[in-house]
Amino acid sequence: MAEVKEFKAESKRLLDMMIHSIYTHKEIFLRELISNASDAIDKLYFRSLTDQNVGLNREDFKIKLSLDRENRTLVIEDNGIGMTKDELENNLGVIAKSGSLAFKKENELTDDVDVIGQFGVGFYSAFMVSDKVTVVSKAYGAEEAYRWESEGAEGYTIEPCEKEHPGTVITLKIKENTEEENYDEFLEQYRIQGIVKKYSDYIRYPIQMDMRKEKLKEGTGTEDKPAEYESYTETETLNSMVPIWRKQKSELKDEDYNQFYKEKFFDFADPIKVIHTKTEGAVTYNALLFIPSKAPYNYYSKEYEKGLQLYASSVLIMDKCADLLPDYFSFVKGLVDSEDLSLNISREMLQHDHQLKLIAKNLEKKIKSELLKMQKSEREKYDEFFRNFGLQLKFGLYNNYGMNKETLKDLVMFYSSTEEKLTTLAEYVSRMKEDQKYIFYASGESVQKIDSLPQTELIKDKGYEILYFTDDVDEFAIQMLGEYDGKQFKSVSAQDLDLETEEEKKEAEKQAEENKELFAFMKDALGDKVSAVRLSQRLKSHPVCLTSDGQISLEMEKVLNAMPAGQEVKAQRVLEINASHPIFNTLKKLYGEDQEKLKAYADLLYNQAMLIEGMSIDDPVAFSNQICELML
Ligand code: ADP
Repeated sequence: MAEVKEFKAESKRLLDMMIHSIYTHKEIFLRELISNASDAIDKLYFRSLTDQNVGLNREDFKIKLSLDRENRTLVIEDNGIGMTKDELENNLGVIAKSGSLAFKKENELTDDVDVIGQFGVGFYSAFMVSDKVTVVSKAYGAEEAYRWESEGAEGYTIEPCEKEHPGTVITLKIKENTEEENYDEFLEQYRIQGIVKKYSDYIRYPIQMDMRKEKLKEGTGTEDKPAEYESYTETETLNSMVPIWRKQKSELKDEDYNQFYKEKFFDFADPIKVIHTKTEGAVTYNALLFIPSKAPYNYYSKEYEKGLQLYASSVLIMDKCADLLPDYFSFVKGLVDSEDLSLNISREMLQHDHQLKLIAKNLEKKIKSELLKMQKSEREKYDEFFRNFGLQLKFGLYNNYGMNKETLKDLVMFYSSTEEKLTTLAEYVSRMKEDQKYIFYASGESVQKIDSLPQTELIKDKGYEILYFTDDVDEFAIQMLGEYDGKQFKSVSAQDLDLETEEEKKEAEKQAEENKELFAFMKDALGDKVSAVRLSQRLKSHPVCLTSDGQISLEMEKVLNAMPAGQEVKAQRVLEINASHPIFNTLKKLYGEDQEKLKAYADLLYNQAMLIEGMSIDDPVAFSNQICELML
């Protein structure tokens, strides 16, 4: 008797959960085991393309199911790549990949969450229906075969055994019925046939089972001889082998797509969008693409790997083909199957493959048009999509010097001063007032904070809408875009807002001229903190605000300086004073009467403006002391 080895702690817990699972779709264990078998065959088939020694042709590969009611066993056999002793230990004795068990609570193992598919722990699901699982496997190229056996959380044994050909045979000893649960159903051939049809129909290798059938005995069932039946067995292929993406859309229900997506791409939520397309012409392919409903936890990190599965004539040749997706659509999951690609094409060659480039180009167009469609006719869904992946689109706008702006400009959305929701640039432009020259925008940490910026007051007062940029990348992206529909973007902090009438302009010029010395004095007092002190044309009720001259805005300064190892960047600050605010008269008066005090006031006003902008002031203690002095 072989020594019983313990499962790793996490695996043990998982097994326990499986064994005592309240999961009502216990039938999915078969889907998991068949899908493992199919993967194993894929591997050996792929090998056979370059390795003569495999000695099997495409049509030799199959998955075989057998039932034995008396002994309560269900056997799943494949002639795939098999497992070595080490692989048996590592793949079946330890939780696959995940390492740190991402399960949260045990009670999450319920119907609505397909944890089993999600965490790649498929094999363990066998224990939902079995008392004992025996795996006999021989790896391709290995001399010896091994038998792995386990009766559950106690542990497993592993020992050498006989097996002629490479592949894996899994024998499940089906549990006895209990009061609550019927396990006998998994020994019924028609039930098994149904489960295969339901979950594994698209598996590209035949899943065969010897079906016991009855037929009328010859010569009976006539007038003089009553009908007699005899039983016989017939091997039947249970699956149609047509992969889901090769089926007609009309044959498929949302549920089929969702199920396929969740199982294949390890998500527990349905996708927010399914794109199923077939193209013939310069290049022929089927594509089945999914947009997840939530951004994966590592989406905005370096760990996230984009890519689509690539099949050549329904055979998987690459698991994550990055060249099929531009970075800004990296959230798309799915696969492409083309007959125009050669099976043994290497990765290096693929990169330069003309067909592949063509497919990528087509897919990009398709994804864009589907997103626009969603934006038009399913706005709530699009909003949800944008909350998850909008940032990526905006990065796309900015990256590569705005090279992709034509693709992305209609997909991005922003908050706005008049809309309670995200708005597109096209929608903004359609609401522009007749006399409005620019698309105005303001940047800040949050909608609320931007909304209370003094710079926005007069523009709003004139009835112009302002886009609110709350993401760091927004202003950079918009600078790359430059204009939309012939309309320039204009920051509310820009120098030339062009809001006044001719008369107002003249009046302002006059005032600026009259107070030239006052502003020059204040600028001197502030030193190199500001590059100018100016009369403001954008303020209504607030006394001061800070704006900037040149390319770099205050917001951009914040963002750039927050980047690690970034250069210290400084916007050219301008302190703007509101001539219609009572404080302006005080300043004028002080210029004539008490210049020392004016210096202190300039400082105070500058610091106030900094605080309003959400920037920290250089010397908060001095600021506080100054205020106290005023209060005394
Ligand atoms: P997953 O299939 O998600 O990786 P499983 O727990 O179902 O997780 O399987 C763990 C691993 O065991 C697989 O990744 C595969 O390497 C191996 N395996 C399972 N079944 C077979 C099989 N029939 N033939 C060869 N290898 C298998």
